[in-house]
Amino acid sequence: LQRIAIQPSQLDDDRVLLTPSQVHYLTRVLRLQSGDRFQAIDGSGNLYLVEIENDRGRKIELITTSDPELPVQTRLICALPKGNGFDDVVRACTELGVSEIYPAISDRTLLQPSPNKCMRWRKIAEEAAEQSERTLLPNIHQPQAFLEILGGFEGDRYICGARGEYPHLWDCLERSVEVGKEITIAIGPEGGWTERELDRAIQAGFEPVSLGKRILRAITAPIAVMSLVAAHCEADKTKD
Ligand code: SAM
Repeated sequence: LQRIAIQPSQLDDDRVLLTPSQVHYLTRVLRLQSGDRFQAIDGSGNLYLVEIENDRGRKIELITTSDPELPVQTRLICALPKGNGFDDVVRACTELGVSEIYPAISDRTLLQPSPNKCMRWRKIAEEAAEQSERTLLPNIHQPQAFLEILGGFEGDRYICGARGEYPHLWDCLERSVEVGKEITIAIGPEGGWTERELDRAIQAGFEPVSLGKRILRAITAPIAVMSLVAAHCEADKTKD
């Protein structure tokens, strides 16, 4: 069944109030007709089976599936890479289960994001969440200066440093991956973090970690981070 993302405000008793673009997508692009069914995720953990009734959706049931979400709330702070590289970061990290992404403007960030970039990333996240059958939509924040983002996080915090004798993130996740916990992981830009950024992050409780012996591109590193977190969570689940 085709799956679309809706806002919780679109739910009204037994109806799903579809937007004109959703009606267009379902009836013109997918050519669904009255009586055909699709699934709707409301971005806060609920998945509904919905039947098309004229230009509206009728809720049939709340489907309980095996929960595809990671048991730990995983936030990424990603220094923005140049060009459109962040699109791939948002897409792949959403598929891998990220909860929140903070696009960061660091000392060595070259990109000056245009105001509509965030809208584009949210759309990409929505499509990736539908595609990977997630029930939660990650929150994609507006770009902010890295040093301003650093404060105010709860839970375990890590900053990826490409050079230096740091413990591997995989080993640190041993203590961080626990149901209900929160993890925040920061990844730098093409030119890496400045000393000042690394120091300020450490002061804010971020522990420097390695992702291995090779230097990963700024686009590859967040995807590697999310793969490690997801593997840690799901390997644990298999053991249970
Ligand atoms: N020339 C930069 C430097 O020396 O830091 C390389 C930056 S790397 C292309 C972009 C970012 O990815 C880094 O700032 C870091 O956060 C992360 N990264 C890449 N490879 C890494 C590794 N092996 N271990 C930890 N972090 C890594």
